[in-house]
Amino acid sequence: KVRVRFAPSPTGALHLGGVRTALFNYLFARHHGGDFLLRIEDTDQTRYVPGAEEYIIESLKWCGLTVDEGVGVGGEYGPYRQSERKPLYKQYALQLVESGNAYYSFDTAEELNAQRAACEAKGETFMYNAISRKNMKNSLTMSAEEVKTLLDSEANYVIRFKMPENEDLYLHDIIRGEVHFNTSLLDDKVLFKADGMPTYHLANIVDDHLMKISHVIRGEEWLPSLPLHVLLYRAFGWEDTMPEFAHLPLILKPVGNGKLSKRDGNKMGFPVFPMEFTDPETGEKWHGYKEDGYLPEAFINMLALLGWNPGTEQEIFTLQELCDQFSLERVNKSGARFNPDKAKWFNHKYLVQKSDTELAVQLNEFLVKDGISYDITKLEKICRLLKERANFVADIYNSSQYFYHAPQAYDEKGVKKSWKEETPVLMQELIEVLEKVTDFTSPNTEEAVKEWVAGKEIGFGKIMNPFRLAIIGSADGPHMFDIIEILEKEETLTRLHRIIS
Ligand code: GLU
Repeated sequence: KVRVRFAPSPTGALHLGGVRTALFNYLFARHHGGDFLLRIEDTDQTRYVPGAEEYIIESLKWCGLTVDEGVGVGGEYGPYRQSERKPLYKQYALQLVESGNAYYSFDTAEELNAQRAACEAKGETFMYNAISRKNMKNSLTMSAEEVKTLLDSEANYVIRFKMPENEDLYLHDIIRGEVHFNTSLLDDKVLFKADGMPTYHLANIVDDHLMKISHVIRGEEWLPSLPLHVLLYRAFGWEDTMPEFAHLPLILKPVGNGKLSKRDGNKMGFPVFPMEFTDPETGEKWHGYKEDGYLPEAFINMLALLGWNPGTEQEIFTLQELCDQFSLERVNKSGARFNPDKAKWFNHKYLVQKSDTELAVQLNEFLVKDGISYDITKLEKICRLLKERANFVADIYNSSQYFYHAPQAYDEKGVKKSWKEETPVLMQELIEVLEKVTDFTSPNTEEAVKEWVAGKEIGFGKIMNPFRLAIIGSADGPHMFDIIEILEKEETLTRLHRIIS
């Protein structure tokens, strides 16, 4: 059975890359009728950020990615928060010591620093590996009695993986195909720390095994850990049930080289977080897609195409369509460039699909904040008129101000262009024409005005341009007669009177 997990560390807010990892896991699980798990990897207590876990859960909820099993949901393989599984890991570390795949290491921080400094002086970087471990304080170089004495004295120790020397590994990644590693470039990673906690590597492998994970889908930054992880499965004798691996391409910043960072977002004015986030350490505030007015469907659609391609021209996908069509084989190896304008385009596409009623409710929220109460059926009409030119409900709000407030000033250019000597007289006549229209609908007023203009042998623009100025103050905006239907007769006439008085 397909079982995948999203396994974030609660070290801060979940950014675009993290949400995309969650999304691809979710889509893969749904496509195969499998399970989508949420595991919180909080073994590194020094990097723990309060509130990060809640943020992750809330973000997944907003995106509509329902978790089947894990933190906040429960399940038969719990607990799903690694700090709560603490007592479980030690035996696995010890099992590896016993089988000769791992060893105790008693080097103090000072001793390790001295080694690092010595290497640095030679222009090298220190690696705890097959060569250097021979000169260090560990259970491979010390006698059994010495080790026992140290352990009994409760001296600080860590357990390290004994990385084989110079072994070629040809590993399989679903997205990348065969990937080659040579173990001489890898170090003896710590598996179990002095504080009694496992490291990420040990906990991750033990949990994926115990939770019966079938596929590990994660960011490219974890590819260098793949050889260690595969060797750990081998050392435990769990190769038969080892999950398959897929490392997702990086998300690249909109311009230039390098991967997208949260700095890019704040600097260039687009969000990199699904929801607003205040860094508890720096107090820095990061805006989010949610608060910027993105619809979760648009956000998810945009994210799905960052690294995955359907192989067709289709760009707009419902979550269900994504589940149906997603496959890891169609995920690209190369980095996916993030385009903030495209994100807006997606939001526009979803915005225009929304019903006018739904949009009106959201528009009304903006107005309530301004202390304005406006008829909801009129707001529906406003949304219908303006949504084609909007990416967000906020755009509708901004471009509909003339409905709620009569113009305080008239666009100078427009006045120069269309306000002629004869205009006041024409506007007075227009007032009289409109006054006679009893049912003030757009077709009715349009017909009345056209009929009147037809009998005058003057250009329609001579009337409509100053008319528009009078009503909305500027030269743009949707169809005039649609606007005045919403404003109604009284307000329309008041505004016309105002401009000629
Ligand atoms: N805890 C790791 C992270 O924060 C999980 C990596 C993995 O999926 O193996 O990304």
